[in-house]
Amino acid sequence: MSDLDDLLAFDRDHLWHPYSSALTPSTPHLVESAGGVRLRLRLPSGERREVVDAMSSWWCAVHGYAVPQLDAAAHQQLSRMSHVMFGGLTHEPAVELGRRLIDLAPRPEGADASPLQHVFFADSGSVSVEVALKMAWQLHVNAGRPRRKMFTILGGYHGDTFAPMSVTDPVGGMHTLFTGVLPEQVFAPRPPAGLDVGPDDPAMVEWERATRELYARFADDIAAVVVEPLLQGAGGMHVYSPYAVQVLASLAREHGALVIFDEIATGFGRTGTLWAAQRCGVVPDVMTVGKALTGGYLTLAAVLCTSDVARGVSGGASGALMHGPTFMANPLACAVALASLDLLQANDWSAQVARLEEGLARGLKPAADLPHVRDVRVLGGVGVIQLDEPVRTAEVAAAAIERGVWVRPFRDLVYTMPPYVSTAEDVATICSALVGAVAEVH
Ligand code: PLP
Repeated sequence: MSDLDDLLAFDRDHLWHPYSSALTPSTPHLVESAGGVRLRLRLPSGERREVVDAMSSWWCAVHGYAVPQLDAAAHQQLSRMSHVMFGGLTHEPAVELGRRLIDLAPRPEGADASPLQHVFFADSGSVSVEVALKMAWQLHVNAGRPRRKMFTILGGYHGDTFAPMSVTDPVGGMHTLFTGVLPEQVFAPRPPAGLDVGPDDPAMVEWERATRELYARFADDIAAVVVEPLLQGAGGMHVYSPYAVQVLASLAREHGALVIFDEIATGFGRTGTLWAAQRCGVVPDVMTVGKALTGGYLTLAAVLCTSDVARGVSGGASGALMHGPTFMANPLACAVALASLDLLQANDWSAQVARLEEGLARGLKPAADLPHVRDVRVLGGVGVIQLDEPVRTAEVAAAAIERGVWVRPFRDLVYTMPPYVSTAEDVATICSALVGAVAEVH
């Protein structure tokens, strides 16, 4: 085993990390192991330090790390098969997971079953969004009236591959370098901030007017409305209201476009309901899920769609949806996902997230009084401190580590989405570290 300096030197010289330069990399912390809600780090100085994970490994590790039930599911599945191609073959973990997802999918009030009855397994969130968008394009081609555009709202984030990039922040965002090679989409303004902004609020009236007007200009060419319902995650942790989601869905439905909800970040209870769609009172035609699907153990995502969509997509000349990732429906990932869904239920995820929401609201509140803080907001198990420019978030992250907490801020946002299994004490530790770090640095 290499020593620490050797590992970090190779990492610096050869490994690309997310959203970073190969030439001027920053030194990452080495994680030696993880258990419960804690990561055991080797800091570049060589010092070992245990920190509370405020990020759930980017929304995934809802049950924490080294979870006995997930470990057992993985071991058991390993003894049968870890992977087998999904082309022409199937297996029990995929069938059972498909059944379970359909069972859990959003449904209209009082309905016996969800209209989302078909599942396409993908190997990452971005790929599931690719597939959802391809479904929408293909459905309209098959119907003999091709539509070329997606309608979305500014400030979203749907992944880093080409089609998802095209519905992600085109102006001043992370992918502007690719403008010109991406399909051109239609971007409505961002809905006013706040969960409770209703139809009569002047900001909402103006947003709805502008959005309807924009939609009308492109209506015949719009294949689908694509949004992260209620919470735009990596595009700015922007919380908006169910009413705005309803407006977007009704525009799509009035004009024969699909409603696609990207619940990759919001799904599996993170915003307080199992799906953000439920709080919006809208059942989408297509829904993407990922991240917490396997409790953060393995890479797996899925696209769910209605029978109408499945028929529309499959009704063309070939009948086939031309997508088939090598690791589609990986049995190991499906088996762990099933165990993770069992655990969500056994742990009463709803009570866990309610406790997180209460702890985050209480613990982050003092940040609102700090001079450099623009906003503090909490939705379900997500807490956000938004800073005023100039931001010094790298220093905030370093100061948080000194206080025993791992956080990864971006742009002007210091945010946390702790594992659901975090105790009240863990949440208090996270909050006081974040508030203390912001106060110290700014
Ligand atoms: N959609 C949303 C809402 C996301 O938050 C993300 C990831 O952050 C993605 C899509 C992309 O998922 P992945 O990183 O698994 O490709």
